[in-house]
Amino acid sequence: MVDDGVVQPHAVVTGGAGFLGSHLCDALIASGYRVTCVDNFETGRPANVRHLEKESAFQLLRRDLNDYDDGDLAGPIDVVFHLAAPAAPSDYLLDPVATMRIASAGTLNALDLARSRSARFVLASTSEVYGPGSDGPSREDRVGQVDPADGYGAYYESRRFAEALTTAYRTTYALRTAIARIFNTYGPRMRLDDGRVLSRFIRQALTGAPLTVPGPGTQTRSLCYVDDAVAGLLALAGGGYPGPVNIGSPEAVPVFTLAQEVAQITGPDAEIVFVEPPATESQARRPDITLATQLLDWQPRTSVHDGLTATLTWFRRARVRNA
Ligand code: NAD
Repeated sequence: MVDDGVVQPHAVVTGGAGFLGSHLCDALIASGYRVTCVDNFETGRPANVRHLEKESAFQLLRRDLNDYDDGDLAGPIDVVFHLAAPAAPSDYLLDPVATMRIASAGTLNALDLARSRSARFVLASTSEVYGPGSDGPSREDRVGQVDPADGYGAYYESRRFAEALTTAYRTTYALRTAIARIFNTYGPRMRLDDGRVLSRFIRQALTGAPLTVPGPGTQTRSLCYVDDAVAGLLALAGGGYPGPVNIGSPEAVPVFTLAQEVAQITGPDAEIVFVEPPATESQARRPDITLATQLLDWQPRTSVHDGLTATLTWFRRARVRNA
C-alpha cells in the first residue's frame, strides 16, 4: 500500500487469531505495518481480533494453512510470522495428527509463501524442543532429549521438524529465516482451559474457588508476559540473526509463590490449598536468555506482579463485558 509516497510494510501472521498471534497483530499495526492474519480458528478465537476489524491495515483470511493457496495474498510481503500451531497441552494431546500436520504441511506452506515473496520468515518454536525440563536454564545449544513414541511426541517432534524445515529453507534457498524458542507466556486472551497451572489459578480466582497448588509448590515456572514475548519476536524479525533464540523469562517462580501473588491480587478472601500433583508435573524449566540479550538487546521488562495484575484485570473486564 502506498500512502504519500511511503510504502507500508506488510506482515503475514499465521495463527494471528490465537493468544500470542493476536497480540503480535496489535503490535505490528501499532508500529505501522499492514497485517494479514491467516487463521482457521482451530484453537484461536474471532474475538481475539474483533477489535482489529475496523483497522484498514488489518485483513483476516480464514484459511487452513495446510491447504493454503499462495494466490490468496496479493502484493509484496516483508515478513511472515508463523505461529499457527496448537500450543496448549489440552489441544495438542486432543488431536496429535492435526498437530503434526500443521507443523509439517502448514510450515511448508508458510515457508513457500515467504520464499515466493523474498520475505523474512520467523518461526514461533517452543521450549518443548528441549524435552522434559532440567534443573539448569536451557541454552540454545542444549541438545533436546525427547521420546518420539511417548504420548507427547507429536508435539515435541513436530516442533523439532518445523525448526529443521526452517533451517533447510535457509541453507537450501538462502531464505532469511529466524527461529524463536518461546517459553511459557501469559497475559490477556490466554486460554484458561489449557491445562497449565497459572491458567487454573486465574480461573479459580475469577470464580472465587480455592487456588489448588500441586504439592509441594516448590516446583517452579518461568512466565513471560505477552507484551515482552511479542517485543522479542519483533526484535528477532528486525535483525539478521537466524537463531534459534530463547524468548522467555529467566526468573524461576515457585508455584506456591505464584498462587500467593494471584491470591494477593484477587483479594483477602482468596484461599490456597495443596493437592496431589499429577504424575507428569514438571519441576523446572527456564531459559538462558544471554543470546537474546546480547544479539537482540531483549529481555522481559514486566514483573510477575504487574503482568498478573494486568491479566486478572483484563479477564475480570472480559467477564463483565460478556455477562
Ligand atoms: P494458540 O492456540 O492461541 O494460537 C495458535 C493459532 O493457530 C490459533 O489461532 C489457531 O486457530 C491457529 N491454527 C492452528 N492450526 C491452524 C491451521 N491449520 N491453519 C490456520 N491456522 C491454524 O496458541 P499460542 O499460545 O498463541 O501459540 C502460538 C505459537 O507460539 C505456537 O506456535 C506455539 O507453539 C508457540 N508457543 C506459545 C507458547 C505460549 O506460552 N503460549 C509457548 C511456546 C511456544
